[in-house]
Amino acid sequence: MFDIYSGPVFGMARQQFLQAADILEIPQDQRDRLLYPKRAIAVTCPIHRDDGSTVVYEGYRVQHHLSLGPAKGGVRFSPHVDIGEVAALSLWMSWKCALMNLPYGGAKGGVRVDPYSLSLKELEALSRRFMQELIPFVGPHVDVMAPDIGTNEQVMAWFMDTYSNDAGQTVTEIVTGKPVSCGGTVGRREATGRGVTHTIVRAAEEINLNLAQSTAVIQGFGNVGSVAANELHALGVKILAISDHTAAYHDPKGLNIPEIIAYVAKHGVLKGYSKECLTDPNTILTIKCDVLVPAAVERVITEEIANKIECRIIAEAANGPTTLEADAVFAKRPEIFIIPDILCNSGGVTVSYFEWVQDLQQFFWEEEEIISRMKKIMDKGFYDTVKSAKELKVSNRMAATCAGLKRVHLAKQARGLFP
Ligand code: GLU
Repeated sequence: MFDIYSGPVFGMARQQFLQAADILEIPQDQRDRLLYPKRAIAVTCPIHRDDGSTVVYEGYRVQHHLSLGPAKGGVRFSPHVDIGEVAALSLWMSWKCALMNLPYGGAKGGVRVDPYSLSLKELEALSRRFMQELIPFVGPHVDVMAPDIGTNEQVMAWFMDTYSNDAGQTVTEIVTGKPVSCGGTVGRREATGRGVTHTIVRAAEEINLNLAQSTAVIQGFGNVGSVAANELHALGVKILAISDHTAAYHDPKGLNIPEIIAYVAKHGVLKGYSKECLTDPNTILTIKCDVLVPAAVERVITEEIANKIECRIIAEAANGPTTLEADAVFAKRPEIFIIPDILCNSGGVTVSYFEWVQDLQQFFWEEEEIISRMKKIMDKGFYDTVKSAKELKVSNRMAATCAGLKRVHLAKQARGLFP
């Protein structure tokens, strides 16, 4: 069924789904309906390049389900995007939103492009064309996009403006993660990294780890990794190593995170920050530390790396960083506490939900309220996960996935099948 979903990333999401469906004893004949996305849209995005030539980029939006409300999820601009990957990410969004009890289905989008190869003008043209092509398939009560890898607040502003021009009125609630100047919420930019740190605080309490005397390694220094690094640093955690797609640094005495954040704010990337601390990016996941934070892309923790990892907590800030084979290794290493992605990075979509609610009501909240409500929702997801992992004797990932899947399943059951 569905050749487009034959790739390795969707294979991983499917396998996780089947394991959860077994635990929940979901009847075989109801599984395909829960597994396969409701809609997968492929669009062609032609733009003029600055040199006058025309170039076409391929884009996707996959809406996994809309049974609990509008589909919700980010759009990534990356040269590696394919429809199977986007579909897998849409499934993870579904379980994430349902685990957090948000009134959303899951979705994800992507454009196969290296955004760093485009000028600002070209990036704007591509962003606007992608949204333009998707206007018939999205809406504030149908599908609400947000940032992901390679996109940011500016891209969301262009998406919103393009949709609004078509509608003939400003529709701020069509996307989240917008600039505060045009309907965004305070605290959204920091939300994912802040939420990651909050789950690390809770995990440390579970395993009696004193964070103020602990060490961390962070792979990925984008919006999520850099905010998490800053928050952990503020809690007294010594950050031993960090990396992005341009460089990796390691200092056993601890890196100067505020200085590095200031450097990245100026230069955009880590490259060029230091010669002394340079290290091989392929080795940073296996540096001995207390808290390991993969905050980059999926499938970086392979079986081989899982065997070599020396840490107490893995905080999955990225979506899908751990392969199925690595998970099998961790099943035999209970000394490592894994905070699964759909729990660990859920602060982002949770504050996106707050942004959408504020836009619908045109009534805006203070940052304090955003942070405390986010922590409350994440705490519930955290403790539900830990409790049911113990009760069901399954991994934290399976407990979290089951909690999300169960809610989607119950909603579909109650609503029935039409026609
Ligand atoms: N892209 C983020 C995620 O993977 C945020 C999605 C959203 O805010 O809708 O969770």
